[in-house]
Parts: sequence; C-alpha cells; structure tokens
Amino acid sequence: MTAPSLDRFKRVVVKVGSSLLVDGAKGELRHEWLAALADDISALHARGVDVLVVSSGAIAMGRTVLKLPRGALKLEESQAAAAVGQIALAQAWADVLGRRGMIAGQILVTLWDTEERRRYLNARATLGRLMDLRAVPVVNENDTVATTEIRYGDNDRLAARVATMAGADLLVLLSDIDGLYTAPPHENPSAKLIPVVPRITADIESMAGGAASELSRGGMRTKIEAAKIATVGGTHMVIADGRVPNPLRRIAEGGPCTWFLTGSNPVSARKTWIAGAVEPKGVLHLDDGAAKAIRTGKSLLPAGVIRVEGGFERGDAVVLRAPDGGEIGRGLIAYDAADAAMIAGRSSKDIAALLGYSGRAEMVHRDDMALGAE
Ligand code: GLU
Repeated sequence: MTAPSLDRFKRVVVKVGSSLLVDGAKGELRHEWLAALADDISALHARGVDVLVVSSGAIAMGRTVLKLPRGALKLEESQAAAAVGQIALAQAWADVLGRRGMIAGQILVTLWDTEERRRYLNARATLGRLMDLRAVPVVNENDTVATTEIRYGDNDRLAARVATMAGADLLVLLSDIDGLYTAPPHENPSAKLIPVVPRITADIESMAGGAASELSRGGMRTKIEAAKIATVGGTHMVIADGRVPNPLRRIAEGGPCTWFLTGSNPVSARKTWIAGAVEPKGVLHLDDGAAKAIRTGKSLLPAGVIRVEGGFERGDAVVLRAPDGGEIGRGLIAYDAADAAMIAGRSSKDIAALLGYSGRAEMVHRDDMALGAE
C-alpha cells in the first residue's frame, strides 16, 4: 500500500508537541517555527480544508513564568503551570492564525468530555459549529482541572480522540521523530523507517517498544495507541518530524514519515466513540474461530473467549485480541470481569447455570463493537 497524497484530505487535525513549540531551555515560544507552521495551515485552509490544531505547550510555558524547578512536576504544579501557560499559548495561536486571516477558537477538554457520551456529543457539536464558521479550533487538555485518574496526560491520544470526534479524515502528529522504526533507532542504528502501516499488528506494537500495555504512556507506544483510536474511528494518521520549518509542506512533498491507514468503510458515530475508548479496562483473548466470526460481523460469544484480563465492569470498554496477540478491535462488554471469566470458553446456554442469572448470550454484541482495518 502506498502513502496517500495530502491533497485528498478535507478535514485535518494537526497535533503539535511541546518540544516543537516551546524552547525547553528558555521556556519561550519558538515564534519563527510557529509562523512557518501557520503558513502551512493557512495554505490548507485557503484550499477549503477544515483545520483543527491540538496544541501542547501550556505546562512548558507556564512553568518558566512561575519559575518552577526543572524535572518532573507534581500534579498541582502542572495544574498551576497550565493555568498560566494556556493564556499565552492560546494568544499565540490567535495571533499567528489571525495574521493570516484565520480565526482561532480555544477548546479545553477533559477526559470525561470525551468518555461520557453526552458530553462527547456536546463537544463534537461545538467543534462542528466552529468549523462551519471556518474558524480553526485550537484544542488542549484542560490540565488545570484534570487529576491523575481522569487525565489523558498526553496530547497524542487526545488528538486522536478529537480527530475521530470531529470526523477528520487525517490526523498529523508532529513530533521529534520522523515516524515508526523497525526498532527504537537510538538503540539500534540499523533500524528502518516504516513508510506505511496498513494495519496495527502485534509486530507493529512491539516495534514501538515492547508489547503495548493498555496503560502505557509516552513516546512511540502512546502514538501507536493514538493510531489505533484514529484508524478504528475512520481517520488516517501520519507521524512526521516537526522540527523542520514547514513540516506539513514536507509531508506533501513526500518527506520521511509513517502513515497509518484506516479501512475505507465509513464508521458509524457510535462505533467511532467505542473505538476511541481511551482507557479500556480489560482485554479479551479470542480463539481463532471467534476472531474470524467477529470479522465477518458476528457478535462475540463467551465460547470463543480463551482468557479474560482486567478489572472491568459491565458496559466498560475492553480490547479484543486475536490468538497472535494483535488487537482486532474494541467493544463494550456485557459482563463484569468475574462473571466474564466464569463463562469464558463456555456455551451461551450454560450462562444461567454458571452465574445464577440469565445474562446476554453475547459477551460483546456486534452493535457494541468497533473493529480495526483487516
Ligand atoms: N496538555 C499538555 C500541555 O499543554 C501537554 C501534554 C503533551 O505534551 O502531550 O502542556
């Protein structure tokens, strides 16, 4: 499969990392770099493309102003830093886009704004309205009120969630690496850049540095998690080095990057929401028959589940894994973890005898399931 051309996309989310936007040593905004990126954004916008920005940098900017110590910050310190830095960050975007004739609109979201369905729909409507008005939404996590348990903590997954929520057809992650390598390049000099990933297999996950854990954070693993959210939700994703001037133009000109492709089928809004579950609470390991059955549109029955992991409750999102360890998709489970473990591998007609109540015949119903590209 070849890399798609940048011209074909109509709605694009551009995620900008803190290290690109803020000079770490001085804690100051890198104005020249931002201006060049804004030129790229302006070129897209002028062609009629809807552009959304997910911008980090609030904490990085605020910590300098507040003279907070170097190194990891305590939660309250990052909250304070974000409160100070977000003002300057939003102003910088409003100025740089404004000078090019675009209107910026700030949106700050928490994890609950995307995980709770009613709030998700509300945030989605606001994004939609801003874009109807041709404004450029500039999104960040609302770090001042996000606490440890309810925070993304990284803007890669937040950007993927925003992209699927906005129905974007492309997510661009601008980072300090030009894409996914066959092995971590700083450890292995012969590692090669992978230009196109048609499907996120177990191999791809391990290239990102060990078997991905659903709770892993930071670096390439988080980017792979973002790619899963994006591609299952119907959005292509590309990782590219943002440290060059005009990084979007460089992608358009065929510069080095990694594309993660989504299947061509349009995805329903509800399935997009399921696919984007940011904190799946467990994992179901399926046998070959069940993996094949759900890929042909069937529900997942307990009989096809080999093993159950995690401490989920009924209605929580869980990851569905094939026998080779690859993620097939995500779904909302009809049973609590203990009950799911009890009926795993058993026939649906035994459920009542095993659990003492007659629950659903399906462990995950097909309507509650979102699958990745084949
Ligand atoms: N939301 C954080 C900030 O604006 C950044 C998170 C990230 O770097 O991914 O500072």
